[in-house]
Amino acid sequence: MATGKINVSVENIFPLIKKFLYSDHEIFLRELISNATDATLKLKHLSNLGEAQGEIGNPQIEVRVDKENKTLHIADQGIGMTAEEVEKYINQVAFSGAEEFLEKYKDTAADSGIIGHFGLGFYSAFMVAEKVEIITKSFKDAPAAHWTCDGSPNYTLEAHDKTERGTEIILHIDEDSKEFLEEARISALLNKYNKFMPVPIKFGTKEETLPLPEDAAEDAKPETKTVDNIVNNPSPAWTKQPSELKEEDYRAFYRELYPMQFEEPLFNIHLNVDYPFNLTGILYFPKLNNDLNLQKDRIQLYQNQVFVTDNVEGIVPEFLTLLRGVIDSPDIPLNVSRSYLQADGAVKKISNYITRKVADKLNSLFKKDRQSFEQKWNDIKVVIEYGMLSEDKFFEKADKFCLYPTVDEKYFTFEELKTATKDLQTDKDDKHILLYASNVEEQHAYIEAAKEKGYQVLLLDSPIVAHLIQKLEGANDNLSFVRVDGDAIENLIKKEEAIASQLNEEEKEKLKPLIEAVVPKESYTVQLEALNSAQLPFVLTQPEFMRRMKEMQQSGGNSMFGNMPEMFNLVVNVNHPLVGQILNTRTEKKRNRLIEQALDLARLSQNQLKGEALTKFIQRSVDLIK
Ligand code: ADP
Repeated sequence: MATGKINVSVENIFPLIKKFLYSDHEIFLRELISNATDATLKLKHLSNLGEAQGEIGNPQIEVRVDKENKTLHIADQGIGMTAEEVEKYINQVAFSGAEEFLEKYKDTAADSGIIGHFGLGFYSAFMVAEKVEIITKSFKDAPAAHWTCDGSPNYTLEAHDKTERGTEIILHIDEDSKEFLEEARISALLNKYNKFMPVPIKFGTKEETLPLPEDAAEDAKPETKTVDNIVNNPSPAWTKQPSELKEEDYRAFYRELYPMQFEEPLFNIHLNVDYPFNLTGILYFPKLNNDLNLQKDRIQLYQNQVFVTDNVEGIVPEFLTLLRGVIDSPDIPLNVSRSYLQADGAVKKISNYITRKVADKLNSLFKKDRQSFEQKWNDIKVVIEYGMLSEDKFFEKADKFCLYPTVDEKYFTFEELKTATKDLQTDKDDKHILLYASNVEEQHAYIEAAKEKGYQVLLLDSPIVAHLIQKLEGANDNLSFVRVDGDAIENLIKKEEAIASQLNEEEKEKLKPLIEAVVPKESYTVQLEALNSAQLPFVLTQPEFMRRMKEMQQSGGNSMFGNMPEMFNLVVNVNHPLVGQILNTRTEKKRNRLIEQALDLARLSQNQLKGEALTKFIQRSVDLIK
């Protein structure tokens, strides 16, 4: 038997490993299964090259819990190691890697951005085991070796009588890691990290029901057979070519990924590139509502089919983190912090590629079947609008497929919208006005008034639309969005109608102060206009600019306007009979009551009357009609 001392300068490497990596002990299993997978794939490779002799069969990896002896076993049928190789790869390579990792990790322990502590390798076994054994037989013609290490830098290495090719790692589980002797715990870990690894993984056995023979008697019971319980799918959909997959394969894979999701995805995007970086994956557009925070099932990141994380921040552009699915790329550096990731050139290229693929897919769906794209619009608009705001490249591309629905569910592209509204909706300063509503219920009166004039009213109701409008205006000179209850709409009305005023200048001069004396001037700017007599006597409009700034601040932009009080224009329709009546009422009390009533009616049509104001309005209405 050989004994030796592992050559590490950090004497107590194991306590250090435990301490630094406390929260992520569970990843040891992923690391050991990764090694077993590598060893198996290497053997297959050598066999293909004709360098490994004999039939290699269909090698698998077995995970086994021995509760009685408090051991966990991971056994593969891969290339194995000779005693010399154990010396070299385990005692030197693995442990020098350990030291290097710890050096690096010590300084960045606070940076939780390090993804899944990748690169820990074999020695992560010591996070959960007080003693580790390796029994390994190389595919080469050499005796098997048995290595044992109890967590101090001392190890023993002796011959072993193992005859089948492959490696078995035996972990003597630590008292404080007993959870890893529970089958349920191991099963959950295998499901989390190894669900799609490329070599079949066996964990226990299961009963399988055999089909009944054709001539079976009616009351015959089907027989069962004990078979290996294979926990993974070694060839998941994303590793295949798009041409091999049908629509239902994509949907089946979605269910495999998210067994708890009952809603079907809207469509998918297959990513597949090998130059200048390697990336495969499938992204799904789920139905999204307007609540951006509610998001459980996220995109999963894999490396060579090994699960790494479901936090892909910094790797895919932020707006696409709303999607679901898988990306698999060995080219994403994992033992670095998130902030470093974002600056990394390769990661930037990957992120740009994904953005471009998503834009191309949306464009092709739009072109292929516009009607079905329109039907999905409400479920996908948040992602698209978010993307247009945050990525300039996407903004340019989305111009072709971003839709602007009207309150009557007509859908325009931006170009179509401009053409459709150009003639009627240009104001007296030659500004092209696009009208929109954000809530069909609350703005009903305004929408109806605008529609009556033949205007197109858009329905823009997603939470970030104020920002998008701002951006569209920035990119299109001489065009402005105005909400149906905004002040700029008056310019449009005037240009179109130019209604004669029924009050002369003298009467107007008399009327204005009468109204100003009643309405609070910190909230209303009184403005006399000659409108159609069928319109309300008083109409409230809000300066578009101010309202939008407020909205943008509420949805997370920076603006100094958030704390400003609400200001409205009180547009007095001098052609309305009630306004004439106000002017001609001699008794001050009676006149003021009419003004208050007209104001409250305007507020009511905007859903603004609440609490005490509403009670007063009702009381006054009763007084007026009794
Ligand atoms: P890494 O896998 O990153 O190279 P590890 O510390 O996990 O680092 O392993 C060190 C080396 O030990 C591996 O590169 C491999 O040569 C060898 N090794 C580990 N596990 C196995 C195994 N199950 N079968 C064969 N060789 C193995």
